[in-house]
Amino acid sequence: MGALHSIDTNGNTPHRTLESWEPATGELLGAVPIASPDDVAKTIARAKKAQSAWGILPVEERALRLLRFRDALVERADEIVDVVTRECGKPRADALGHEVAVAVDQLTYYCKNAPRILAPRELSLHLLKHKKSVLHYHPRGVVGIISPWNFPFVIPMADVFAALVTGSAVVVKPSEVTPLSLQKAKEIFDATGLPEDLFGVVHGRGDVGQALIEGGIQKLVFTGGVETGKRVAAACGANLVPCVIELGGKAPLIACADCDVERTANAIVFGGFVNAGQVCISVERVYAHESVHDALLGRVRELTEKLRQGDPTTDTVEVGAIIFPKQIEIAEKHIDDALKKGARIIAGGRRVPGPGQFFEPTVLAGCDHTMTVMKEEIFGPIVPFQKVASEDEAVRLANDSHLGLNAYVFTKDREKGKRLAQRIEAGSVVVNDVLINYGAVEAPFGGIKQSGFGRVHGDDALRDMAEVRHVFTGRLPEASADPTWFPYSSKAYRWQMRLFRALFGRGGVIRRVRELL
Ligand code: NDP
Repeated sequence: MGALHSIDTNGNTPHRTLESWEPATGELLGAVPIASPDDVAKTIARAKKAQSAWGILPVEERALRLLRFRDALVERADEIVDVVTRECGKPRADALGHEVAVAVDQLTYYCKNAPRILAPRELSLHLLKHKKSVLHYHPRGVVGIISPWNFPFVIPMADVFAALVTGSAVVVKPSEVTPLSLQKAKEIFDATGLPEDLFGVVHGRGDVGQALIEGGIQKLVFTGGVETGKRVAAACGANLVPCVIELGGKAPLIACADCDVERTANAIVFGGFVNAGQVCISVERVYAHESVHDALLGRVRELTEKLRQGDPTTDTVEVGAIIFPKQIEIAEKHIDDALKKGARIIAGGRRVPGPGQFFEPTVLAGCDHTMTVMKEEIFGPIVPFQKVASEDEAVRLANDSHLGLNAYVFTKDREKGKRLAQRIEAGSVVVNDVLINYGAVEAPFGGIKQSGFGRVHGDDALRDMAEVRHVFTGRLPEASADPTWFPYSSKAYRWQMRLFRALFGRGGVIRRVRELL
């Protein structure tokens, strides 16, 4: 496969270039210019200028114009799939279904619903009944987005859409490993007649991300690893930039004694090996009840052995390449550590000889929490199993983690599934399914513990992408001064105390209301 043309990002002068290599073939796919600190500053400045006209459009008008972008994404979906497939080595079905389709759905939802979500909201005041309190959602200005390599299209684009529909401009720093996927989105955006500077892209490594944070943006959405996330959150703190921090996951899957073994096994294989396990919500550890453990493990082995791995442009391949070579070493280290401590390989276990970067879908049995494979993020095609004696033990182990992004419970008793879900420390818990919650664009997505803070997707994330301004007015004609203003006096204080007791004291109005609740 030949190299794509080198692309100039925003009219900036290219200095050095960043090359994108196909993980499935080892061939050069293309290159982009690395932005200098001056380029980052200029891109932010141009975005700010474009935003001043964009941000004053009514939200309905912005939504209508963004629908043109959506139509272009649908029209040119093949081109996006082609770049994402080649740049990530992921099957075309994954590139279409998990990247382009989810992104287009997200944009459709926001275009349809932004006028409702961002409409001014009147609060019901419980005490100051003579006042009126209304929240207004204003554009922030320029939103910075720093994104990882595992979903180089949908992750940054979901944030791009949210920012643009709220009236902000964006500047994105994609992962250095996968710059071309986002560049394709930029190319399509520019061809739709929308102001080009509204959507800035700066390519480069961590220093370019750092320059973006320090460059005068009004909000940052970061998705990446925990250690980088800590550095990024600290940099945002130092610059008082509000941020959403989306970090790694270690999703547990609890297979209850009454689970449907066939569905659970299929879900484990899909949830553990899709995108070669490089998903922040991959099934990263299985706690199987002892009464179903052996049957489940046996079926997972059979299904894993049937998986086809290789050229992602072939539509019959299920498992593609490892996008970032370092992940292969991480996978090998986890396996070595687990084997030393008594785990057994049930399927796979090795890197596949080149060309290309591939690792066999791997199932481990006999795992426990002394092993890194049960405690640290794998981010590769390994599914470790641990046998448990009860659901309580499974929940305790599921919560024995510094991460808390997604979790899965499999049981035929849906009510029990919901109860268990409430006990698991994770941003989202899915019953009898895997990964699907990321596709529910109405629902908030994000983590707790060291999986980060803030949310993307859903109505609250859209409001949070905007800047809330509170406008407070009166409902009654205003007197020349209010009784609580100056001058103070003993008489005024006695009245104040009487009013206070009438409201909050024994038998007081507000206390009585609270007792009713
Ligand atoms: P990294 O944390 O290595 O990088 C993420 C982004 O941050 C990249 O664009 C990177 O640039 C940039 N970056 C690196 N250093 C800095 C810095 N000092 N200042 C600003 N930006 C910087 O993550 P990966 O790309 O390796 O992605 C994998 C991780 O992402 C996994 O842990 C995964 O779980 C997590 N993830 C979380 C998701 C979620 O929604 N919670 C979703 C998907 C992935 P460069 O590439 O040039 O190093």
